[in-house]
Amino acid sequence: MTPETRALRQAMVDTCRAMDAKGINQGTAGNLSLRHGDGFLITPSSLPYDTMQPEDIVEMGWDGTYLGRRPSSEWRFHRDILQARQDMNVVLHCHSLYATSVACHHRTIPAFHYMVGVMGGTTLRCARYATYGTQALSDAALEALKDRRACLLGQHGQIALGKTLDAALWMAIEVETLARMYQQALVLGEPPVLPDDEMERVIAQMTRMSYGLGPEEEGANDIARPRS
Ligand code: 13P
Ligand code: ZN
Repeated sequence: MTPETRALRQAMVDTCRAMDAKGINQGTAGNLSLRHGDGFLITPSSLPYDTMQPEDIVEMGWDGTYLGRRPSSEWRFHRDILQARQDMNVVLHCHSLYATSVACHHRTIPAFHYMVGVMGGTTLRCARYATYGTQALSDAALEALKDRRACLLGQHGQIALGKTLDAALWMAIEVETLARMYQQALVLGEPPVLPDDEMERVIAQMTRMSYGLGPEEEGANDIARPRS
């Protein structure tokens, strides 16, 4: 293992531990992948994150062959998303409490709050149910992720994408936060939805500012300027 690969694997372990620390994961649920070389790195199946080591991370090819431990049971959707979405390098899946509760009702989250736009559109879609670990689940997830950076998985959990590990973790926490806000808002009745033309402005603004994608991303805040 080269020092560079070891550092990537350690970064994946750190992200997994952060999922636990941020309260968006529990037990052996959830999995994480990162585009690498001629394929991708992925977490092993059924291994709690607190005991996971860089050596436990599995190397996989696009053909589904692997090196190391048994890969996550969800390797198909990780592979298919990374292949279909060349704009993204990381796929993060978890069973966070609020996102999963909404997904248990097969609800797509509408633009009840402008931050829904950060997922790339006017809705956070919920993929139809399919058995975990199957090609059918991968197909359903890809459909729900069309033009989006996240989706819910019916009666299962959520998927968040990112260019980097940090960006994917941030997105998963945003999904969980929005799902929590949505459930809280529903207590007072179905909240109003922002109109499409307003969401277009929100999304254009987010795209221009690379909102939430990290300071290293290109994008300008057109009001504030760095002091020269
Ligand atoms: P793995 O432990 O095989 O990654 O499975 C966890 C999971 O969330 C299945 O959907
Ligand atoms: Zn799962």
